Amino acid sequence: MTDANCIFCRIARGEIPCAKVYEDEYVLAFLDLAPVHPGHTLVIPKTHHKDMLEIPAGLGSAVFAAIQKVAAAVLEATGAQGFNVMQNNRLAAGQTVFHIHWHIIPRFEGDGLEMWAQGKYADGAAMQQMAAKVAACL
Ligand code: AMP
Ligand code: ZN
Repeated sequence: MTDANCIFCRIARGEIPCAKVYEDEYVLAFLDLAPVHPGHTLVIPKTHHKDMLEIPAGLGSAVFAAIQKVAAAVLEATGAQGFNVMQNNRLAAGQTVFHIHWHIIPRFEGDGLEMWAQGKYADGAAMQQMAAKVAACL
């Protein structure tokens, strides 16, 4: 489950250097080279899966445990008061590396980063309609 040309697979195989912060049997974590704030860390499975629809759900607990460990360490190391865990799926959502990864982004009070647009539904009925539409696709 490795891709010869994938940059994160190459990092996981040790072919390309990274600023490693954590590793276990399933997961690797290293600094993002273009950080939102210093300490911005990526958590990846060592095996190649493109996105949330392709990763085996069974890997989730290893990823979850690593995110908890690494996020606590990033908070302590940076003195951040909070952090975002972000995960982009597909080009339209801003994914640029197609080997699934989670961003751990340290956040500081008043740092001014605006992550979320303030969208809204026309009314409660429109919101219920959308919930029903999604549920019907499950
Ligand atoms: P995304 O837009 O969610 O696909 O995020 C990809 C992230 O990977 C970006 O934030 C890049 O800065 C980061 N990135 C790309 N190549 C490397 C690399 N060789 N080492 C560390 N981070 C990288
Ligand atoms: Zn890969």
